[in-house]
Amino acid sequence: MTFRPFALAALFVALALAPASAQQSERAWFENAPTPVRYEISVTPDIEGGTFTGETTITIESREQLASIAMNALDIEVTRALIDNQSAAIAVDNDAQTLTLTPRAPLPAGRHTIRLDYRGRVFDDAYGLFRVEYDQDGQTRRALATQFQVGDARRFSPMWDQPNMRSVFSISVTAPSDLMAVGNMPVESATQLANGLTRTRFQDTPSMASYLLFLAVGDFERFTTDVDGVELGVVVRRGQTERARYAMQAGVESLRYFEEYFGIDYPLPKLDMVGVPGAGGFAAMENWGAILFFDQYILVDEDATSESERRFVFESVSHEIAHQWFGNLVTMAWWDDLWLNEGFASWASMKAAEALHPEWQPWLSQRAGGTESAMSLDARTGTHPVVQTVNTIDEANEAFDAISYEKGLAVIRMLEGYVGEEEFRRGVHDYLNARLYGNSVTDDLWGAIQAASGQPVLDIARSYTLQPGYPVLQAEAQCRGARNTINVTQRRFALDDASRTDERWSIPVVAATTRGASARSVLPASAQGAVTIAGVCNGYLLNAGQTGFFRVHYANADFQRLRRNFTRLEDADQLGLMLDYWAFGRSGDAPLTDYLDLVEAMPNEANPIVVMDAATSLGAIAGYARGRSSEAAVRAYGMRVLQPYLARWGWTPRDGEHANIALVRPVLISTLGALGDEAVIAEARRRAAAAAAGDASALHSTVRNAVLGLIAARATEAEYEAMLAEARVATDFVEQRRVWRRIASVGDEALARRTLALTLGDEIPRQLRTGVVSMVAASHPRLGWDFYLANRATLDEMLDPLQRIQYAASIAGNSSDAAIADALVVYGRENPASAESAERTAASMRVRAQLADRTMPAVDAWIARHGRGRGR
Ligand SMILES: [Zn+2]
Repeated sequence: MTFRPFALAALFVALALAPASAQQSERAWFENAPTPVRYEISVTPDIEGGTFTGETTITIESREQLASIAMNALDIEVTRALIDNQSAAIAVDNDAQTLTLTPRAPLPAGRHTIRLDYRGRVFDDAYGLFRVEYDQDGQTRRALATQFQVGDARRFSPMWDQPNMRSVFSISVTAPSDLMAVGNMPVESATQLANGLTRTRFQDTPSMASYLLFLAVGDFERFTTDVDGVELGVVVRRGQTERARYAMQAGVESLRYFEEYFGIDYPLPKLDMVGVPGAGGFAAMENWGAILFFDQYILVDEDATSESERRFVFESVSHEIAHQWFGNLVTMAWWDDLWLNEGFASWASMKAAEALHPEWQPWLSQRAGGTESAMSLDARTGTHPVVQTVNTIDEANEAFDAISYEKGLAVIRMLEGYVGEEEFRRGVHDYLNARLYGNSVTDDLWGAIQAASGQPVLDIARSYTLQPGYPVLQAEAQCRGARNTINVTQRRFALDDASRTDERWSIPVVAATTRGASARSVLPASAQGAVTIAGVCNGYLLNAGQTGFFRVHYANADFQRLRRNFTRLEDADQLGLMLDYWAFGRSGDAPLTDYLDLVEAMPNEANPIVVMDAATSLGAIAGYARGRSSEAAVRAYGMRVLQPYLARWGWTPRDGEHANIALVRPVLISTLGALGDEAVIAEARRRAAAAAAGDASALHSTVRNAVLGLIAARATEAEYEAMLAEARVATDFVEQRRVWRRIASVGDEALARRTLALTLGDEIPRQLRTGVVSMVAASHPRLGWDFYLANRATLDEMLDPLQRIQYAASIAGNSSDAAIADALVVYGRENPASAESAERTAASMRVRAQLADRTMPAVDAWIARHGRGRGR
């Protein structure tokens, strides 16, 4: 699954972990259960009525005599149960989510057939069999799709709904003949019935986990391409195929890449990428042979899609295609290893991007984005080890967080860097090849990589996955006496007192000098160590290439050498140094002015991602300065640093420019606008007006969101009305989302209140309403928080159960106001499920509030000295 909660993505990084449940571990439930050999499931949905009827015939095999048979079922009413054609007693336990069948007499060991007739529910949120509603040429249409990870296949049909209970599935669906049905496998037969209905039966799946089962029914169009004998398809709502060409291209590239990388043919005859309108707590799901996307994540508009949105399409497509092998063909035995499934697919999508689009330099943006956010989360109260014990479905759902995905990815990348790309690839191949159509645990992978590489990867892997946090290395070159030595001490990097704990790590280190020498070694998990490399006194790095998941704090003289040699460092190392020193400014390990010294050292020709990091940080510092006497000077400094880059790169892409300028240009425009750059604001208005008057060249797709967002933030009442009018006529969900995001970002408080009020009515599409409240809260934290408290019942109703746990914290977390932090803690006490996320978010709000007081006096003085500009 690709985890990317709509509209909340930028706002909430911290995810809750509920207290360990007293419930019995669900993995133990079916330990001596019979093996499901084959399910034959046939459903008939009533799309309008929101229900369906189902029949299932399950072939089981048991080694023991069975007095009763227990399996999973939820929200299902079984009307008839037969075992070997004899009726059986039915007992349902809703809390345990089980169905128990008791035959009249115990069943002997061997093969048996269970036949169940049942009724189930069609949901309006994205779990189980669910429906989405959308507008098609002025008419309301509905489509059906399924989402079963982690434990929702049991809402579709009674079954052993656990990842290690693999089985063959035969699925049939009876639906209106004018709709298309899509499953994991190709259609085997389509039979016309009476009343305009067709019964579609899909070919048997290979043995697979229940969470990967898929069915969709809707007014779809499908187009296909042959990729080396595999039929790759895109399925989207009628009329949308042109917008899905880019996703198809990403699919073709990724499918070819992974067949070659894994060295194993794609195992099914076809692979569909199915887009349905709407939104949920995830972007995409890797169902075997039929990947589900919310179509906002795969539809590309030539005139409106930004570069970062385009890359997210590629990233989602390649992530889900990587799962077709890693996750689907070989499946983790239990949800404890969810991190490996997700961390690996996330890593693999970067790997594919690097191979297919090297000009994107995907690891640079990954380091600045996902990896840095995981490093931030992992240094605070509330983080957890990558590997965690998951006992229940709730705990499994909560494991889909930045630690699983982003730290998982970063640890895998570090290990690949340590053993070497080819050895790592061979280990992955051997691991998969030994377990085709089977299950595995994490150590199976490390064992295969250790065998393929001859390197002791287990120590490093365990030290990074079994304990929380990561190290900061304190490094000091010996430039007197015993030269060529860097003395290193390690401790945990911490952003709050509670995280200053005593873990130690086994750390693969790549040392390099500014003159080009390099040396690899592994620091043992002890407090002190040393690295030997010639030429340390000319300046050196301890994480050269930045593949290591740790930070390096250099002794002052060493830091000054790096600063003086900054322009000679590789782009990745410039970026890594800046990210580390920004983090040290926040943790108190170094003054924030060290970071600003690096900003000063940034070359004119800096990599766009390095400039993007400076823009983000300077925007944050301007936030710390809000209300201080230095505010204007801090903003002016930010503008002086960033303006030359926008001047050099311009507002419109040029032939042959660096591929990442398109990614960073909108960030520069937004940041300069937010800093109050009047020239940028005037140019944004001029371009928007020209575009509205028909000059399409005035507003390139890659800056459109940024320019319109900048104007929206300063919208007058008349401009606000114009946006509302635009939203009212928009019928396409993707376009509605764009306009409502802009409306939600208005700066004027009275207009923000109007937007909030609209979230209680019908005007905003249901799936966007809670996101709109979050976005208003981002610029009006107090307003957003008060609105949430006053309208909680209505808003909570529109969230799925997991989103609900986090929502209050995500709203309040926008603020650094101690009173809101206190109110959030009170909220947590009244709502125990949210208590942890509330405590953690309140703690980070207080840290942020103190940060400004602690760091700004020195920053103010530094800017007073450097504020005249950088002399270029
Ligand atoms: Zn995934």
